[in-house]
Amino acid sequence: MDYKHGKGVQVEADNNPQMMLYALGALEIFDGIYDIDSLSMIIYQPRRSNVSTFTMAKVDLYQWVEETLKPAAELSYAGEGDFKCGDWCQFCKVKQDCRKRAEYNMELAKFDFQLPPLLTDEDVEEILGRIDGLVSWANDIKEYTLQAAVGGKEWHGWKLVEGRSNRKYTDENVVAATVTAAGFDPYEHKVLGVTAMTSLLGKKRFEEVLGGYIEKPQGKPTLVPESDKRPAMNTAKNDFNEFEEDK
Ligand code: SF4
Repeated sequence: MDYKHGKGVQVEADNNPQMMLYALGALEIFDGIYDIDSLSMIIYQPRRSNVSTFTMAKVDLYQWVEETLKPAAELSYAGEGDFKCGDWCQFCKVKQDCRKRAEYNMELAKFDFQLPPLLTDEDVEEILGRIDGLVSWANDIKEYTLQAAVGGKEWHGWKLVEGRSNRKYTDENVVAATVTAAGFDPYEHKVLGVTAMTSLLGKKRFEEVLGGYIEKPQGKPTLVPESDKRPAMNTAKNDFNEFEEDK
């Protein structure tokens, strides 16, 4: 079982090479002690309410080792093989200055960043599938260049300046006392949010006292790949079509 504390990316166990490597490690230790025919790999990611399980026969795991893992490891050990970009780049140590990642993302420049009306639906769909990676890469480059500049590196045509900042109190206690003495209330009074209120009352008491006053509004529409587990939303067009069919 792999406990994943992150919530940025939901990780599935299905044919996940990381989990298959862990399973291989478990086999190394336990295969001589127990009769093992199959292995269940579980990812537990509580902050995404995700429990993902994948079960694989031992023979299939060893087949993957021979056909996929070993050849790839040998190439890597010899300093050969191809770089491959994907979602995993965001966890890579050289993600900021990897040339392959830069080339991969710059491929989108072939669209000349034209506005969608000038692109075909297929163009837009291709861009859509790669845009998260592009944004993530662009942010990594910004962070990398900023940190290097703070460390003293000079980028031709660029300089470090102070960003905008907001005024703030030097001592909140003194401010509160001074405003109170002047006859005003220095505090804003707000009802605690759901999370803070749950901590205050405890889950059980929260349900007893406030259960009838909680609602979960519909989430903001988000365009995700078809493989996403969430059911598709009803759009106004769907509703209209259903209405027309019912007429
Ligand atoms: S950033 Fe480069 S080296 Fe790292 S995983 Fe992506 S392609 Fe491979």
